[in-house]
Amino acid sequence: MTFDTVIHGGTVVTAEGQFQGDVGIAQGRIAAVAERIEGGARRIDAGGRLVLPGGIEAHAHIAQESSAGVMSADDYLSGSISAAFGGNSSFIPFAAQHRGQSVDEVIATYDARGARSVIDYSYHLIISDPTPEVLQDQLPRAFARGITSFKVFMTYDLMNLGDAGMLDILTVARTHGAITMVHAENNDMVKWMNRQLAARGLTAPKYHAISRPELAEEEAIHRAIQLAKLVDAPLFIVHVSTARGAEIVRQEKFNGARLFAETCPQYLALTRDDLDRPGMEGAKFICSPPLRGADTQAALWHHIAQGTFESVSSDHAPYRFDETGKFLNGADAPYPKIANGMPGIAARLPWLFSEGVVKGRITAEQFVALSSTNAARTFGCTTKGRIAPGMDADIAIWNPETRRVVTQADMHDNMDYTPFEGMELQGVPEIVMTRGEMIVEHGSLKAREGQGRFFGRAPVDPRGRQGYLAPEFDPAQNFGTVLR
Ligand SMILES: [Zn+2]
Repeated sequence: MTFDTVIHGGTVVTAEGQFQGDVGIAQGRIAAVAERIEGGARRIDAGGRLVLPGGIEAHAHIAQESSAGVMSADDYLSGSISAAFGGNSSFIPFAAQHRGQSVDEVIATYDARGARSVIDYSYHLIISDPTPEVLQDQLPRAFARGITSFKVFMTYDLMNLGDAGMLDILTVARTHGAITMVHAENNDMVKWMNRQLAARGLTAPKYHAISRPELAEEEAIHRAIQLAKLVDAPLFIVHVSTARGAEIVRQEKFNGARLFAETCPQYLALTRDDLDRPGMEGAKFICSPPLRGADTQAALWHHIAQGTFESVSSDHAPYRFDETGKFLNGADAPYPKIANGMPGIAARLPWLFSEGVVKGRITAEQFVALSSTNAARTFGCTTKGRIAPGMDADIAIWNPETRRVVTQADMHDNMDYTPFEGMELQGVPEIVMTRGEMIVEHGSLKAREGQGRFFGRAPVDPRGRQGYLAPEFDPAQNFGTVLR
């Protein structure tokens, strides 16, 4: 057998275990994994290094207009480069439908944007306008293209579908084997809080965290899960930011719900106190759900270690600290008018490795599961997320000893700040490959624009989750085949 590349002498880590061994790559795929592999047109010495499946970033907003009309600072070129410098071999950003748009139009728009990516990519489809045409014709067409995850919002007036709208989406998604992702915050609780704060003139960035109470997330997570259980549909709760929200996820998983969830580094690395930095600097830390207290960090770490979450994702939502981003509505805009979101696609994995693996909170195997393997399984990336023969050669080689201080320049994105600035981290992805092609090598970019490919995905894999059948819903009993 001839290999294009052999990665020699490293410690291969998978979600199940680790061993000293070599990885042989041929024609973009992993062709062999063995104790020793000879030959290879190119040999990479991985002595002292960890050889991991390349990260899969499953939550990122790239070249996406928010419902308030602000374009993210990163397009598919800068966003994918930043992702690669952060140890990712592929990503699944969102393709967002805004009201009045057809799904076909949305996908065509993102196909044009995605063509610039340097790493492989797919999309989750955000649905904000579930018309009968969308539900009956357009979503099935998207599904046939391998877009097998849909995201809905329970908050934001221009996105919120209401409970009945969610049930419609959940039912269509289940019929096609797709998974529904949900941003869970109680819209009316947030709007009511906004009115209370506005009436008192409390509009500084720090009130953003006050305006979106932990209870709003907890209530909406609970409600989203009950809606999904009613129609026995798989559900993925994005960016869980509260201890109680995580606890509800844990309990409902234990009870058999077809439930998946993630949290994000910002909820573990930062607190709502960051929103109270001097002047308007707190605007850098406005994201939704908002940053919480230090006690939440400990609780979320516990849930990460115990398996409540499939993934730790970045929720990269880059808006610059200037009039093109955060301050589109003026330099002293009240918090509801400040662009919502923070960058983090390059920091996600180095931060999780350093705070998680290096500090002994999680194992290297858990790191692989949380950064890549679980996302591949949950979102149907059948050729990615594992180091095994036949899989795409999506590989990240990490030096687990290198220490560095996070700087904005290190993020390689189109942003002018990083919320992780100044943090000391240990562990750096030195080499990142997608399908065997070098993307990042020792701090320099080797990829060319457009090298990444779109990949379609398989249906959600619900194995190990028994599901829940509400007696009133039993489709065979009460609905014939209408809802199946
Ligand atoms: Zn997001």
